[in-house]
Amino acid sequence: MNRSSEVGNVGPSINDVSQIDEIDMQMYQENVVDHYKNPHNKWEMSDFTIKHKETNPLCGDEITMFLKIVDGKIVDVSFVGDGCAISQASISMFSDKLKGMSVDDARALGEKDIFDLLNIPISHTRIKCAMLSLKVLKKSLDE
Ligand code: ZN
Repeated sequence: MNRSSEVGNVGPSINDVSQIDEIDMQMYQENVVDHYKNPHNKWEMSDFTIKHKETNPLCGDEITMFLKIVDGKIVDVSFVGDGCAISQASISMFSDKLKGMSVDDARALGEKDIFDLLNIPISHTRIKCAMLSLKVLKKSLDE
């Protein structure tokens, strides 16, 4: 009766991901590791204009972004979150970039901007990790 749940086989694929993570770790550029270990703008803003949370269930990454917007300009950005090095380095770098940007310019940002910031090869399994920061921004601005 429960045979279908055994076929799902979720366990081994999660183990695979963490093994890949360790191998990837050796390839990460110093900049990414720095941002992961000492993230920029990681604090909980209280006087935010927008607060939005997104998760990447594939990896367990989560990011809550806080934006303070005045006259169509992002005057302050912060985030809290947890997850793999790629997701957390991505939001750390991205938050630096967003600070001082107009909302219109921020809306125009795309995947290329994230790749440029990280500046390391991103494996297929890590794309969603890298793009979580972009996703949380886009959803924030949609609200
Ligand atoms: Zn991740």
